Amino acid sequence: MGRVLVIGAGGVSTVAVKKMAMNADVFSDIMLASRTKSKCDKIAGDIKNMAVQTAQVDADNVSELIRLFESFKPEIVVNLALPYQDLSVMEACLAYGVSYLDTANYEPLDEAKYEYSWQWAYKDRYEKAQLTAILGCGFDPGVTNVFTAYAANHYFDEINYLDIVDCNGGDHHKAFATNFNPEINIREITQKGRYFENGQWIETEPLSVCKYLHYPEVGGRESYLLYHEELESLVKNFPTIKRARFWMTFGQEYLTHLRVIRNIGMASIKPILYKGMEIVPIQFLKEVLPDPGTLGENYTGETSIGCRISGKHLGQERNCYIYNNCSHEEAYKETGAQAVSYTTGVPAMIGAMMFLKGCWNKPGVWNVEQFDPEPFMDELNKQGLPWHVFHNLDLEL
Ligand code: NDP
Repeated sequence: MGRVLVIGAGGVSTVAVKKMAMNADVFSDIMLASRTKSKCDKIAGDIKNMAVQTAQVDADNVSELIRLFESFKPEIVVNLALPYQDLSVMEACLAYGVSYLDTANYEPLDEAKYEYSWQWAYKDRYEKAQLTAILGCGFDPGVTNVFTAYAANHYFDEINYLDIVDCNGGDHHKAFATNFNPEINIREITQKGRYFENGQWIETEPLSVCKYLHYPEVGGRESYLLYHEELESLVKNFPTIKRARFWMTFGQEYLTHLRVIRNIGMASIKPILYKGMEIVPIQFLKEVLPDPGTLGENYTGETSIGCRISGKHLGQERNCYIYNNCSHEEAYKETGAQAVSYTTGVPAMIGAMMFLKGCWNKPGVWNVEQFDPEPFMDELNKQGLPWHVFHNLDLEL
């Protein structure tokens, strides 16, 4: 039915490509291209029910990308490389004439700055070209946006308070490791916190606001306020929101390592000279930390990510907590990857499926809450990320 080209061959891509192959009625032709072709070949080699083509590509290079698109002729390009490549891939998609999907918003390499402005600026050009760009279709951003849109459709006349809560209750049995690309992860966490209240963005010192929250099947965890990119689009697309925040759990061991990493300058993104060679400390650090793609084997426990929402329905105050729990062991058994890669790769696959089936196919540049949440929610239940809802309980926030 559809030709998909996936860029990037890390943990998230491993899951997305394997799940695409499990849905071969939708993804009839798959190509996987990345900087290191051997990583693509390894993923393709694990897939037995269909042949996945592989290729080498530098996704920073627009003309190289266009040549690849011309040879494979994809209907959608799924960008699972790093956020730095978003704009070059979007440019190449426009130049060739193919729709686009990613899981993380663009970041400039030399500045950890999270905003959609660069990608939203492509809206008119995608509209004119009759192409669809689907932004941020992982779990958070991604499923959390869809959960919010679903809750708005089913439970509320207006949403007033939104708290996105992200708990990794798992244990990978390493002293310190990040669950996805270490450079992107540490850049995100060491930024100032930010949340939206009464029309304004309020900044907090990094990891300075903490609440003890309870997660289904996992229990109580220290949860820290962070800025997360989906807040920007959600407050724009749901203008009745008075306050929107994002919380993520971290253990004390993780935070101690992070503090040391920052204090000794290893989280820096500014290049330094080392033996006459320019290196970026955080990029060097990535090379010595465990590869997130290899954590799956000994990972136990679950992730629990969801939206705690309150607002009004028929003049009454009400609330809901809509969430998914995902087991690291189950994710590993099915795809060879841990639950953080799984919870990102599965929604990326479903987003591409929504496009190919014509449910999420509208010219322009969109965040996922701007599409119909219903078929996506159905697929979450079928594709390994079942969701649940509690109503009118103590949201703790
Ligand atoms: P990895 O670092 O494991 O994989 C990234 C892949 O991209 C690697 O294969 C890498 O190549 C490739 N790559 C990097 N630069 C280029 C380039 N210039 N040209 C071609 N390929 C390139 O990352 P993850 O799989 O953990 O994450 C993938 C994406 O998913 C990231 O953007 C991350 O921010 C996002 N993410 C989103 C989440 C969500 O919920 N929305 C959650 C988790 C992640 P090589 O193998 O050679 O290094």
